[in-house]
Amino acid sequence: MVSLDTIKAQFPIFKQVTPHGKRLVYLDNAATCHKPQSVIDRITKFYAQDYGTVGRASYWPAYNTTKQFDQVRHQVKELINAQHAEEIVFTFGTTDGINKLANAYLSPRLEAGDEVIVSEMEHHANILAWQRVCNEKGASIKVIPMKDTGNLDYEAYEALLNDKVRLVAITGISNALGVKNDLKAIVNRAKAKQIPVFIDAAQSLSHDPIDVTDLGCDFLAFSGHKLYGPTGVGALYGKKALLEAMPPMSLGGGIVKEVGFKNSSFQDSPTKHEGGTPNIAGVIGLGAAIDFINEVGYDQIGAHTHDLTNYALEKLSQIEGVQIVGEVTDRASVLSFVMEGVHAHDLSTLLNEKGICIRAGHHCAQPLMKRMKQPATARVSFAIYNTKEDVDVLVAALKEIKTFMS
Ligand code: PMP
Repeated sequence: MVSLDTIKAQFPIFKQVTPHGKRLVYLDNAATCHKPQSVIDRITKFYAQDYGTVGRASYWPAYNTTKQFDQVRHQVKELINAQHAEEIVFTFGTTDGINKLANAYLSPRLEAGDEVIVSEMEHHANILAWQRVCNEKGASIKVIPMKDTGNLDYEAYEALLNDKVRLVAITGISNALGVKNDLKAIVNRAKAKQIPVFIDAAQSLSHDPIDVTDLGCDFLAFSGHKLYGPTGVGALYGKKALLEAMPPMSLGGGIVKEVGFKNSSFQDSPTKHEGGTPNIAGVIGLGAAIDFINEVGYDQIGAHTHDLTNYALEKLSQIEGVQIVGEVTDRASVLSFVMEGVHAHDLSTLLNEKGICIRAGHHCAQPLMKRMKQPATARVSFAIYNTKEDVDVLVAALKEIKTFMS
């Protein structure tokens, strides 16, 4: 096991003080997390020594680049235990993956009267693209409600599954409350009725391993930047036969067999889905991020962030006037809270002056916030480089703010 100090030392961002002259306490990892030196170095080396395009040219930098690019596809395949590297399509992130799936998979299959199931706790990214296609086709979105606790209502989910449902699109972990959904139960129930399932793994893969083969989901999307990797890159997993059957998700260069002005023919998947020059440096950096995760290991990442979350829950709930939002049964390393008499946005601004970065607002999950009857919450989320000291600094700062405001 690598020591936590050694791990934190790999993140150069923490070597500097904040503009307010404070030690950086970064607690907004559910939004995006910082990059270890290995990711930064891999990208720098790529631009400095290997840079070329992928898949198209026969000179050496392009050849090297294509080789590295394909290796990362294999790394992603291994990370999520897909059956084939061809089941991995590089995207620009989770949002991009969902939009592509909505247009290329859902839209051609959807008819008036059909239904798509999402949950009340979804990030807007896992609502809006499906919603547009449903509205265009006269289909409707059905919503799995949350319980008062913030947990998903599995009985209500079961009741929504019928033969009009064309897709279940569900998040693995709520980015606003930290609820971990029972993906196995969700997929099994849909599969019993032959309904395809899409998993929004934007939050999941930074906490827990996901095995798509064991899970049996049809599609899954994630973003590199929440996984210690670069922004602007992610992957969409899809079962091989489904990806093959789909029209190209993004039309452009690099994907064709033959182009005519009336009709064109395309390469096999995943090439046919990756039109245009991809975020090559992003993909290379994602490879380094996956190496980092494999070196540290999900066991250590999960155990450490779980301990920190429990520690934070205990300490925060001891502060007078602080209320944790949701009684989450199975929680990832995300928690939302409110403080009596202080708006979440003010909290975040005041904490920033003390070097502490937390998130405030609706967390791109407005339906969830309405359900929890909160216009805004303050959100804290942990990554492998956070420490108990970070929590202590936050707690001390919150107590100070509480005293100052009252
Ligand atoms: N789904 C969830 C659950 C998320 O937390 C996020 C990012 N906050 C997204 C989707 C969208 O991810 P991205 O902005 O990287 O596309």
